[in-house]
Amino acid sequence: MASSRGSGRGKVRNLVLVLGDQLDAASTAFEDFDPQQDRVLMIEASGEAQHVWSHKARIALFLSAMRHFAAELRAHGLHVDYVPLAGNPHASLLDSLDAKIVALAPQKLVLVEPGEWRLERGIEAVAARRDVPLAIRDDLHFLVSRHEFAEWTKGRKVLLLETFYRFARQRTGHLMEAGKPAGGAWNYDRENRGAFGKSGPGRVPPPPRFKPDKITRDALDEVARRFPDHPGSLEHFGWPVTRTQALEALGAFVKDRLPSFGRYQDAMWRGEPFLYHSLLSAALNLKLLSPREVIEAAIAALRAKRAPLAAVEGFVRQILGWREFVRGVYWRNMPAMREANHFRHRRALPKWYWTGATAMHCMRETIGQTLDHGYAHHIQRLMITGMFGLIAELDPKQVADWYLAVYVDAVEWVELPNVAGMALYADGGRFTTKPYAASGAYVNRMSNYCAGCRYDPKQRTGASACPMTVLYWNFLERNRAELAAQPRTALMVRNLARLSETERAAIRRHARTLLANLDSL
Ligand code: FAD
Ligand code: SF4
Repeated sequence: MASSRGSGRGKVRNLVLVLGDQLDAASTAFEDFDPQQDRVLMIEASGEAQHVWSHKARIALFLSAMRHFAAELRAHGLHVDYVPLAGNPHASLLDSLDAKIVALAPQKLVLVEPGEWRLERGIEAVAARRDVPLAIRDDLHFLVSRHEFAEWTKGRKVLLLETFYRFARQRTGHLMEAGKPAGGAWNYDRENRGAFGKSGPGRVPPPPRFKPDKITRDALDEVARRFPDHPGSLEHFGWPVTRTQALEALGAFVKDRLPSFGRYQDAMWRGEPFLYHSLLSAALNLKLLSPREVIEAAIAALRAKRAPLAAVEGFVRQILGWREFVRGVYWRNMPAMREANHFRHRRALPKWYWTGATAMHCMRETIGQTLDHGYAHHIQRLMITGMFGLIAELDPKQVADWYLAVYVDAVEWVELPNVAGMALYADGGRFTTKPYAASGAYVNRMSNYCAGCRYDPKQRTGASACPMTVLYWNFLERNRAELAAQPRTALMVRNLARLSETERAAIRRHARTLLANLDSL
């Protein structure tokens, strides 16, 4: 990936660009770092916070974690050229990089594979324009490299998580015993779909929250000052911003919540934003933690009989399976994935996605905790805000921008496949076997949201009909031919056929009214 060198290079040998989600001291970016001749470059650019309308906590997390990481590198004797928001005349990260290349005239620009397609192309373009050789190094954070994933896909018509997961288990040896899956089965998914029942979850061990130190407090103040109109709150900010804190969060999860993680993975409960989830995604995505150590910590708990196999396997599947899989799928399908719109949905995102001001209790609860914490767990993202996006025929780009904006763990390589591929089926099922559509009955089974809602999940028509239910049946009706032809959705369409034509017409009418008035739901 090197281009011919221009003349007049300066004293800096390697300019090592470290992006905000590359905070890993063990990364290949530093493998031949020579403090005498090399320099680290870290850039805070307001454009990265405004590219989508980012949640304040997401911006603060990036700023604080980057500043802590720069301080650590300096403490280890590395020369860090840090461009803070306050001192950056450029809104765009690429313009800042360009200016630094002009000022320092490095002999080479070094970085680890960026997580975002747009940035990788942009950095290549800047390096080419300035005629500076560019070395993009492998990202060893991941257990399966981009190249290995591409090899794995060769000759496969459909990409399925389950086949990839088995490949990754065999390749890494995690949860394998003498070439066979630990416990005799690859997957304990059936044991991982429990709901809480009427009495609720009881007391759930709370995840550790970290008191902001001076660096974090300064970042929080700066975000409040610079981005006052951005969504979300800074009041509850307690995310790990250093590797030490991230390791503490991992330890607490494995000890307190992992044993029940599997069983209640899909459950939701009012006023319980975290339940038994790990809350490690942001630390993983910033690379404060490596997936290897997270997986190994869970497997160590299994060996010590402190967590059951179904919980540990369920957790490992999320990281070794889903997390690695969606990254591979992202790089394979970009930039088309960003434009995909299989169902040609064009409706605007309802305004209340940014405020939570809706009468739909499930949406109010999920969006409310998202605005408070920058967090919702997987089933809330997939089956509440995501599924509504699908059945309310929302424009996939607007939905994807919302997800990229509002979660503290949002980085495009993981966000986009989950939104466009899993939640919205916008890619027409390149790696999922069906659209995830369900009615209010699913929400009612998996949570207690419906109990406090103005709508009734069982009603398909009438004033108290649940919008999830109405729009679900309407979605089936509109896409009947396609869904009937797929084995995993054919049953849904057969259920539709059981409704009388009168009822179906009433549902269609009601759905038309809802869709025309999404902002008022
Ligand atoms: P846990 O439930 O404790 O799971 C453990 C870990 O497994 C997570 O930390 C995460 O690293 C990984 N993981 C779990 N599910 C997935 C998945 N489907 N894809 C990739 N990794 C997974 N995850 C992000 O990290 N960033 C995103 O921007 C993001 N956007 C999403 C958007 C939608 C529509 C959906 C359906 C899912 C999205 N996810 C995203 C995946 C998942 O919801 C989050 O990783 C998870 O909720 C983070 O919370 P946790 O750390 O408590 O996860
Ligand atoms: Fe959501 Fe419908 Fe249940 Fe209300 S009744 S919480 S809108 S699923």
